[in-house]
Amino acid sequence: MKYVSTRGSAPVLSFDDVLLAGLARDGGLYVPQSWPHFSAAEIRAMRGLSYAEIAVTVMAPFVEGCLTRDELTALVNDTYAGFTHPAVAPLRQVGANQWVLELFHGPTIAFKDYALQLVGRLFDHVLKKRGQRVTIVGATSGDTGSAAIEACRDRAAIDIVILHPQGRTSEVQRKQMTTVLASNVRNLAVEGTFDDCQDMVKALFNDHAFRDTYNLSAVNSINWARVMAQIVYYFASAVAVGAPDVPMTFSVPTGNFGNVFAGFCAKQMGLPVEKFIVGSNSNDILTRFFETGVMSADGVVPTLSPSMDIQVSSNFERLVFHYLGNDGAAVATLMDEFRTTGRMDMPQGAYGAMRTLFEGHRYNDQETLAVMKTMRQTAGEMLDPHSAIGVAAGIKGHDHKASPLVALATAHPAKFPDAVEKATGIRPPLPDHMADLFDRPERFDVIANDLAAVRDYVVTFAGRARA
Ligand SMILES: *Cc1c(COP(=O)(O)O)cnc(C)c1O
Repeated sequence: MKYVSTRGSAPVLSFDDVLLAGLARDGGLYVPQSWPHFSAAEIRAMRGLSYAEIAVTVMAPFVEGCLTRDELTALVNDTYAGFTHPAVAPLRQVGANQWVLELFHGPTIAFKDYALQLVGRLFDHVLKKRGQRVTIVGATSGDTGSAAIEACRDRAAIDIVILHPQGRTSEVQRKQMTTVLASNVRNLAVEGTFDDCQDMVKALFNDHAFRDTYNLSAVNSINWARVMAQIVYYFASAVAVGAPDVPMTFSVPTGNFGNVFAGFCAKQMGLPVEKFIVGSNSNDILTRFFETGVMSADGVVPTLSPSMDIQVSSNFERLVFHYLGNDGAAVATLMDEFRTTGRMDMPQGAYGAMRTLFEGHRYNDQETLAVMKTMRQTAGEMLDPHSAIGVAAGIKGHDHKASPLVALATAHPAKFPDAVEKATGIRPPLPDHMADLFDRPERFDVIANDLAAVRDYVVTFAGRARA
């Protein structure tokens, strides 16, 4: 399998090059040159398989030429053996033909583990084969940092440094990062804001000599391998509720559009899908887009669902590429327009086609809390604020008849205990494997909000492995 950039002018790459490259050199995102296809009979044959078996079946065509099926199987088995539910991604019924897909049984109890746990192993595997190492540097406002650290801890070919704004993450979020004492992991508590952290990381990546010397890398949500690993649970949940013999409805609480785009990939691969319902919080750029055909950037306001507090959805470019008929030059023009004006008008034909498959619904914090309360009372289901938005949007958009609704629950309620307690009166306990989180020793280094200081820190840390 080969991969092309959504902007059409970067080199065509193999899977392992795409994995390590992240963003394409022309500023675009990599997508497969063609979609692998599963027939109805092949999809039906996934029924009853384990999550890991479905994962190998679904991902094998994407890694062909880079990993053997045995190598893929070993990495996949190792990845999902560490999850705490035997089904890995269990379904719970919440209404007639309505299901919640629990994607919070990984080490950091949020859905990003489902992809990042595999991506960490893929990085390590490919880098070892090449005799290389990388230094992953990232900034986090709290949530993605822990999933990245858990994915990279103790991997021989990877060092990872994560910057967080000192005192501005929640206790749970900080502890999930700073209690990982692996020798290849460092946490920097920056005396500044999240934007300061992000600006410094960007500056390090823009220093090309520095980037090359220390082989800086990222595992951010535009990485194709993350999308690929997320396709699996769309197939796994769909066959459990009757696909391919019934068309599916999925609802997804959405930020960067990476998760729901993976569902779109599943559809391209032959899974019958009637509708994708996107749930937004007050940062509703996507819902506004699906209502109007115009993408217009606005300021970001903080909400109870911080992982969806985004200004632009970076993965949306992959959808645009598809609906513009894989015309990279046209995508580049639209994206340039968006970057310079903060606004992009989708051509009518493309927008009309998107609207036959996608719709969006938005929920502010008040409405989100109300949904959490109702779901607890009527279905006995404790939802975190992100998941509540997905479930509410799904139920609103689901036209019950013959299409099962699967609503993706993206975080465990215990990850957002204050909001859950406010909505339901119950403070959800951490799951067993994390119950002692607050007793574990922490390690982090406080650092000034100063690029030179951060740079020196990375030099010393990454340099020790190169000495
Ligand atoms: C990252 C995240 C999201 C948003 O997912 P995207 O792929 O960025 O759309 C939703 N919920 C939770 C809990 C997350 O961590």
